[in-house]
Amino acid sequence: MTKQAILGAREARGRTRAKAPFLRQGRRASAPTNGQTLEPRPELNGYYQTLSEALGPQHWWPARTPFEVIVGAILTQNTAWTNVERAIVNLRRERLLAPVAMERVSRAQLARLIRSSGYFRQKARKLKEFVRFLRRNFGGSLARMFRTPTEELRERLLAVHGIGRETADSILLYAGGHGVFVVDAYTKRILARHGLAHEKASYEEVRTLFEASLPRDTTKYNEFHGLIVNVGKNWCRTRNPRCEECPLKPFLPGTALQIAERTGRAQQAAPPRENLAAQADGVGAQSTLVMLG
Ligand code: SF4
Repeated sequence: MTKQAILGAREARGRTRAKAPFLRQGRRASAPTNGQTLEPRPELNGYYQTLSEALGPQHWWPARTPFEVIVGAILTQNTAWTNVERAIVNLRRERLLAPVAMERVSRAQLARLIRSSGYFRQKARKLKEFVRFLRRNFGGSLARMFRTPTEELRERLLAVHGIGRETADSILLYAGGHGVFVVDAYTKRILARHGLAHEKASYEEVRTLFEASLPRDTTKYNEFHGLIVNVGKNWCRTRNPRCEECPLKPFLPGTALQIAERTGRAQQAAPPRENLAAQADGVGAQSTLVMLG
């Protein structure tokens, strides 16, 4: 069994033990099964609006330059952001946060500097592969690279060793300002628990669902991903989700807002949302991205 499968199985067991409200209700919304095309869900705009009002700007992604975003997107694969921060500090101190410098340094030295991010030998290779790709295909220029049409660049990034879908989309959106929605484990968990997608829906299914449901607005995609990570870290945990305090509780299947929306009385049913930002405990700008592809 792969590590990801083991994590998925643990997550599934955790949900069962947690007896979250959506399970206690004894009902599951009619989520599309794996493999089906997911229909657009216009209500996701309401999720975004609610989270924006409750939690405010997320200031995502925490980086000083587009190249630093790319380095961070690779280093944060399978680890917490706090571990990445130490590696970034080391790279900045050694003046390696530039494509040319990173290509020149030895892979062994690079690995030593990013040790805190875990899987450091593999990640050193991934960083090296990316800067080589950048030089060979775009003369080392990120500006040139990001002038490539979105779909074409996405395909080319996915062909680079160590860049999976979530990493590619993080690079496209947060470093290049391309209109792609970044999906992570939190996104899938929230959609599954709200009956909007099957828990085994693929990355591409979920990405397409968001992009078909929301206006193509880079700022909105940027913020929404940060808001989802915030919810995943603070309320929608693998075990013991805190639905009662969660800003998305009104959207849970079977809650007052859901019923009112069906009967055209959503405004009256929406509960007050004061103080939710304070519950977020300041997390957002430096949240964890895990299970990157
Ligand atoms: S997003 Fe919030 S309300 Fe929805 S399942 Fe997760 S914790 Fe519960």
